[in-house]
Amino acid sequence: MTVSRTVRAARGGTLTARSWQTEAALRMLHNNLDPEVAERPQDLVVYGGSGKAARDWPSFEAITRELTDLREDETLLVQSGRAVGVLRTHEWAPRVLIANSNLVPEWANWPEFRRLESLGLTMYGQMTAGSWIYIGTQGILQGTYETFAAVAAKRFGGSLAGTLTVTAGLGGMGGAQPLAVTMNGGVALVVECDPARIRRRLDTRYLDEAASDLDDAIARCEHARAARRPLSVGVQGNAAEVLPELLRRGVPVDVVTDQTSAHDPLAYLPRGVSVQDWHDYAERKPDEFTDRARESMAEHVGAMVGFLDAGAEVFDYGNSIRGEAKLGGLERAFDFPGFVPAYIRPLFCHGKGPFRWVALSGDPADIAATDRAILELFPDNEPLARWIRMAGSQVAFQGLPARICWLGYGERHLAGLRFNELVSSGAVSAPIVIGRDHLDCGSVASPYRETEAMADGSDAIADWPLLNAMVNTASGASWVSLHHGGGVGIGRSIHAGQVSVADGTALAAAKLERVLTNDPAMGVLRHVDAGYDEARTVAARRGVRIPMGAP
Ligand code: NAD
Repeated sequence: MTVSRTVRAARGGTLTARSWQTEAALRMLHNNLDPEVAERPQDLVVYGGSGKAARDWPSFEAITRELTDLREDETLLVQSGRAVGVLRTHEWAPRVLIANSNLVPEWANWPEFRRLESLGLTMYGQMTAGSWIYIGTQGILQGTYETFAAVAAKRFGGSLAGTLTVTAGLGGMGGAQPLAVTMNGGVALVVECDPARIRRRLDTRYLDEAASDLDDAIARCEHARAARRPLSVGVQGNAAEVLPELLRRGVPVDVVTDQTSAHDPLAYLPRGVSVQDWHDYAERKPDEFTDRARESMAEHVGAMVGFLDAGAEVFDYGNSIRGEAKLGGLERAFDFPGFVPAYIRPLFCHGKGPFRWVALSGDPADIAATDRAILELFPDNEPLARWIRMAGSQVAFQGLPARICWLGYGERHLAGLRFNELVSSGAVSAPIVIGRDHLDCGSVASPYRETEAMADGSDAIADWPLLNAMVNTASGASWVSLHHGGGVGIGRSIHAGQVSVADGTALAAAKLERVLTNDPAMGVLRHVDAGYDEARTVAARRGVRIPMGAP
């Protein structure tokens, strides 16, 4: 029997578990399912199509129970969202070890995954859903902001002012797109088939306006673009119909991308299917639905290629839509690049990636204190300071107050240690959780995304995320996760994550220093190994020991 319930993390400085290390995991699991945070909490779905925090409600209850009782020398094992064991370890060991959605390579395809899922044997963990470090749409906001900033730098003289970006998807991650575009000065037209998602982004201030129909949307966008005024407009529709229509009408579009849940064909709405019929149809006839979704994606991506031919900047935003469109019969699906090789890889060479933290107190003042600490720690980093100030004034928190910013090797541990001091001195009112997306510099193997077009052709080598998980386990992270599938779908990626708790103790400081040094070091050495000069320079300058250099 499915028993749905409303979940919200505890707030304040009083423990409900035995230690802050386990209290943190408990609050973060619960926070992932807070209705303000999760996209479909009643189904335990946090974001990214079907990314879940626990396999089912009985599993959720068991994990909650075990975390509440777990001792400081014990480790809980979670297998695809289910508590499967508690083992005696030691105080430096992670309190939780998580493996989600992993399949043996020859069996790693959607039909087999769904068969096992329907037997209750696995769940889709996405990246931060099953690893309990999702922080709402802000989690992707800075990365999206940086990506659009890179687009602006490459093509439009450093600003998107006076340009029109067309994209689709206003879900948990895609919802960051409109705000990221307007933060860069541009106009965004975002196509979304589900009106509830449009409303949600309006309510949380990620989206400025909703248009009544496509004509209205185009008029609003044209007006704002002509005035060089930042604006984001959501329009209800199916991207597989709206994008070809925009192309047909010759609307002058400067940038095109997409964040529908294309990685999972059952989470992409085909043309001719209503939102109301969607999930029932997908469940009843998954094969037929998959074929129709892929056909629609071929139309959708075909229009993106059309915009490319017309001179627009076009990129895949990490949702595998090119791969699915190719399966739908579109020959030219891979004519445009993924966003990592196009804009992000140089950051990865510096060990940079999405560093994030959460105030377990629930008090926004604690995040304000950490924001000030970041500004003091990195006074010469002007883009970082601009982001922190902008986020402080423009980002509405979802669930526990949180912040994200991209920090590199040699930076992350400084922030971790400073946060730990804020906790020990009482400058913040409860411990701080520090984690990251699995989408990071040295923690993923994903040939359609993070490791697309590596210099040495090592795109599909998956030893790196395994090493990353082992390194973080050996270095003292509070919980470590190893997943398959993530943002790009079953069979297409392997990735790892870590979360560490700054509880103000000397032991936490010792662990944080190691984890937050070694975790981004994986990014530097992975890119040295692949032959990137920039990474080699970083390694030499910062003393990352690499025995052999590139093979
Ligand atoms: P989500 O499931 O919360 O949202 C997807 C949205 O797309 C939904 O609102 C849905 O209604 C809409 N949609 C589906 N089909 C559509 C269609 N045909 N036309 C218009 N709208 C349609 O997912 P999310 O968390 O927003 O993630 C979106 C995608 O981005 C996923 O594939 C995810 O794996 C990927 N992703 C990318 C990154 C990145 O860094 N670029 C990070 C995380 C996730």
